[in-house]
Formats: sequence, C-alpha cells, structure tokens
Amino acid sequence: MRSYGRLPISFERGSGVWLWDSENNRYLDALCGIAVTGIGHSNPDVNNAIINQIKNLSHVSNLYRIGKQEQLAEKLCRMSNMQNVFFCNSGSEANEAAIKLMRLFGQQKGIKEPQILVMEKAWHGRSLATLTATGSVLAQKGFGPLLPGFCRVAFNDIDSVKDILDHNQDLVGVLVEPIQGEAGIQIPDKKYLIELRAICDDREILLGLDEVQSGMGRTGKWFAHQHHDITPDVMTLAKGLGNGFPIGACLATGLAADLFQPGSHGSTFGGNPVGCAAAAAVISFIEKENLLTRAGILGEKIIKSLTERLVGNPSVNQIRGSGLMIAVELKTKCSDLPRKALGEGILINVTGENTIRLLPPLILSNEEAEQIVAKVVSLIENHDNN
Ligand code: PLP
Repeated sequence: MRSYGRLPISFERGSGVWLWDSENNRYLDALCGIAVTGIGHSNPDVNNAIINQIKNLSHVSNLYRIGKQEQLAEKLCRMSNMQNVFFCNSGSEANEAAIKLMRLFGQQKGIKEPQILVMEKAWHGRSLATLTATGSVLAQKGFGPLLPGFCRVAFNDIDSVKDILDHNQDLVGVLVEPIQGEAGIQIPDKKYLIELRAICDDREILLGLDEVQSGMGRTGKWFAHQHHDITPDVMTLAKGLGNGFPIGACLATGLAADLFQPGSHGSTFGGNPVGCAAAAAVISFIEKENLLTRAGILGEKIIKSLTERLVGNPSVNQIRGSGLMIAVELKTKCSDLPRKALGEGILINVTGENTIRLLPPLILSNEEAEQIVAKVVSLIENHDNN
C-alpha cells in the first residue's frame, strides 16, 4: 500500500554507523531508522544473540514461562526502578497497553468513563487509541471517529494541567513524552516532569511516560526522565530496545504494577525469546561500551559544534537537544533536505516542515560526529543560497 512517501534509494547492507546502497555508495546514518539502531547496524553482539536464540527456540506462547523474557524484565526493572513489564512488538502496542492500564486503574476506582490527559503535538502511534492520543490533525485526518476518553493540553504548560484537573474528575492518568520527538525534539522546562509527578501523586492518578523514542540511552541516561530524578507509574519502550528487532515494552510500578491479571491483556508474539535475546544483548552492549556517558558527551559536542558553526546564520531559529536527540530548527521550510542529504552521503530527517532532526547512533566516533556537523552545516548553508 502506498502509506509512505519514499525516497528513491534502497540500502543493501549496514555496518555500525554506515549504510551502503545498491550501487555501493556509502552513507552516514544520522537517523538510525528513526531512533532504532542506536548501537549500530548489524551489531555483532545482537546478531549473535538472535542467531543463537533462533537455533535454540524462536517461539512459544505466553501461555508458558519464557526464561529470556523473565530475565529481560528483571533487567529492565532494575534499570528503571519499576516492578513489572508487559512485552509487545512496537511503540504503538506499548502505548496501547499503557492506555489500557490507565483505563483499568480508573474503572477500578469507580470512574465509568475514564479520561487520559495527552499533549498537543504528541506522538504515540498509529493504532486507533494511540492515534487519538497523538496530537497531529494530519495523522488523524480521515480516520474518524476517534476514540473517546482523551483530553489535551499544551505540552510544557503545567498551569493548563492544573486547570484541567480542577475541572475534570474523570482524569485517571497523564500520558506524555519526556521529550517530544516527532514534534521536533521539544524539551520541556527542567521542572515540568517533576511538577507533573507531584500533581499525579496529589490527585492519585497515573503518570505515564512514552520513552519509545527518548529511551534506551539516547539522551545519555537509560531513560530521559532519569535526568529529573522521578519515576513514572507507567513507561513505554520500543525503537532502540531491539536495535531493529521489533520489540516493545510497557513497564509499570506502584498502583499500576498489578492491574493486568491473567486474561486482561495479551500478545501472540510479544516477549518472544528472540526479541528478548536481542534486547538483552542491546542492554549488555550499552553497558559494556559505556554508551550512556558517551551519548551525553557526543550530544554536547555536536550541539556545541553546530552552534559555533551556525552562529549568525540567518536561516537558523534554534539548535537544541538532549544527548543524541538533536534538532536544528530553521526559519523556513526545509522538507527537501533529507533528499539533498542523500546526495551528500548522510541520512537525516525533517519534522514539522522546518526542523532538521538528528538521531545518530550512540557508537559514533568523534570524527563521525564532526562529519555529521560538517554535512548538516553545508546543507543549511546551501539551503540559504536557494
Ligand atoms: N511513541 C513515540 C514517542 C514515537 O516516537 C513513536 C514512533 O515514532 C511511537 C510511539 C510509535 O511507535 P511504533 O511506530 O513502533 O508503533
């Protein structure tokens, strides 16, 4: 089906930071399949984990215990200070689980029509519930009727949250990205998540954080909310978790931890041994190579370098980022840049028509980081001349 506006290129192989097309041209991947291949293409540790697991056992139903799944769950809980995990296959599915948990929480409190607070410009997925939670009229267009049970305020506006909570007794949870990715790497004020946590505690409602894009080390911590010393009640992961092998997870703790009981929710493929082996290898690799620290250092380096080289450039509005979630917001539309970037041998992305988004791998060398900066600066400077 024609659901994608595709660029006219096909990649044949990848290794680390690099991709090769069918004519053997090499490209620096500063997008990682949209925040997925964080530890590089064809990572040998992940490949070996997948191959060894497939040789041994690739699927059994969740009707039985799955050792690899239990081990991964324990690992994720230790990393996040959370209690329980439901495994699935994508970010949308992880958020579906989070939404169902919040509704169940409300129903059990006697709220017949529970409502979840979501944010303007949020991105939570394309399934009907997550599309409703997503704050993009463009993505929702033509798919009505959307689901009831959601209300929306502006991102990074704590007063709006307080205001709506004063007037809506049916709110059972807040679902928010710690950093809005698809909206162009929008980073809230330092106190925003801390205040959201306090408000949710006061009202005894659930704080759900969508870390599908910001999680798994991308911002220099395992999860972006860990920069603020808070723990959510519910957290969702996917993308970088399997480094390209499809796996998602919905973690829960405290009041949310034991809401799902046998029969409440399920997935045929979710938490299969192969996906869990891949994710465990991703985590071990990040630990072994000390990539959390590295992502933080690299991010600062790239932002500093972009800022120095683009200072005074009239087409640049703002350069911002956290770790390796980096945006260069231009004053004019630049949707043509990803195509032009291919001509320069680099993969980048543009969101919201005027924001260049960089989501490079955590394994970049300093030299490769500088190459990204040089190529992006050159693209922007040539964009000026047009
Ligand atoms: N949540 C966030 C923050 C995302 O960025 C995305 C995808 O871009 C999703 C959820 C949906 O994930 P998936 O495409 O795996 O369903």
